Amino acid sequence: NKVIYLKKRPEGKPQLSDFEIKEDQKPECGDGELLLETLYVSVDPYLRGRMRDEKSYIEPFKLDQPLESAVVAKVTESKNDDFNSGDYVMGMLQWKQIQTHSGKGLRKVDKDLAPLSAYLGVLGMTGLTAYFGLLDIGEPKEGETVLVSGAAGAVGSIVGQIAKIKGCKAIGIAGSDEKINLITEKFGFDSGINYSETDNMTAAIGNHAPDGVDVYFDNVGSYTLDAAMNNINRFGRVINCGAISLYNETEQPTGPRLETTIVKKSIKMQGFIVRNYEDRFEEGVQQLGKWLKEGKLKHEETIVDDFDQIPQAFIDLFDGKNKGKMVVKA
Ligand code: NDP
Repeated sequence: NKVIYLKKRPEGKPQLSDFEIKEDQKPECGDGELLLETLYVSVDPYLRGRMRDEKSYIEPFKLDQPLESAVVAKVTESKNDDFNSGDYVMGMLQWKQIQTHSGKGLRKVDKDLAPLSAYLGVLGMTGLTAYFGLLDIGEPKEGETVLVSGAAGAVGSIVGQIAKIKGCKAIGIAGSDEKINLITEKFGFDSGINYSETDNMTAAIGNHAPDGVDVYFDNVGSYTLDAAMNNINRFGRVINCGAISLYNETEQPTGPRLETTIVKKSIKMQGFIVRNYEDRFEEGVQQLGKWLKEGKLKHEETIVDDFDQIPQAFIDLFDGKNKGKMVVKA
C-alpha cells in the first residue's frame, strides 16, 4: 500500500524531492469504518499554499505526514450502515492507495451519470468554483464582456463556457497557441490571448475587448490582473479566484497597485473560496450536470497514469502541462 508524504516544504517551485513515497501496511477495516481503494486523485494549485507553514483557511500540511486532496474511491469493504461495498465515493482523502475512513464528509457518486473523474472537475470543486464565482460575484449580464485567465484550465474553461451560456462575450488568456485553439474551438470562447507570446497584455486585451471588460475572473494575479484592470469598464466586477503566478514566489509583491482604478471606475473586486458556497453545492452540481447533459458545457481532462505520478502531476500544473482538469488515475 503506497502512501505519499510531504518530506520537505517546497522553496519556490515544488520538486520531486519534496515528496516521499513509502510502503505502508494495508489497513484493517474497523467497526463503523469503510475500506477505500483510491481511483482518481485531484491535484490542485491551492495545495501549494497548504505546503507552506502558514495559517490559512485550511490547515497546512504537516511534514512527514501523508498529503491529501479530493479523491474518488471505491468502497471495497464496509462496516458502516450508510455505505455498501462497491459504492463509489468522493471526498478529501489521503494520498494512499488504500485507506480506512469513518464515512463522515464522503459523498456517493454515480458512475452512470458521469465518468468518475468528472466529480473532481466539472462536477466537483473546480466546476463549482467557476459557477459560484462567475455567477454570484461576477453577475454577468447578457451582452457584457467576460475575461478569464487560466482559461484552458479546470476553472477557467468552465467560466468561459458559463459566460457564453449567459449570452456574454468570452475572452480567455492562456499560455500556448494550442490552448487558445482549444478554448475557441472546443469551448466556444469568442477569442483568446496567448500571454506567453504577448509583450503588452494591456494592449492585447484592448484589441480583443474593444468595448472594455465588464467582468474579469482572475486565476493568475499579478501583471495579468494589472493588464485586465487597465481595460476594466465602469461598474466592472473582478473575481479574485486565485493567483497561481505568485504561488511559488518567496516574496509577494506589495500592496494593490489598483486603488485608483477601483475608485474611479466603481469596481467591485471580491475574493472567495468555493467552500463559502457549501450549502449551495447541490444546486451547483445539478445545474452543471444539466448543462453537461444538454451539451452546453464541455469538459476536458488531462489524466495522468498511476499513483506514483501524483507529485509530478502536481508540479506540472505550474508548467501549464494540463488542459482542463489535471487528474491522476491511481
Ligand atoms: P488549472 O487547471 O487552471 O491549472 C493551472 C494552470 O495555471 C496551468 O495549466 C497554467 O496554464 C496556469 N499557470 C501556471 N503557472 C502560471 C503562471 N506563472 N502564470 C500564469 N498562468 C500560470 O488549475 P485550476 O483550474 O484548478 O485553478 C485555477 C486557479 O483557481 C488557481 O489560481 C487556483 O488556486 C484557483 N482556485 C481557487 C479556488 C477558490 O475556492 N477560490 C478553488 C479552485 C481553484 P497556462 O498554460 O495557461 O499558463
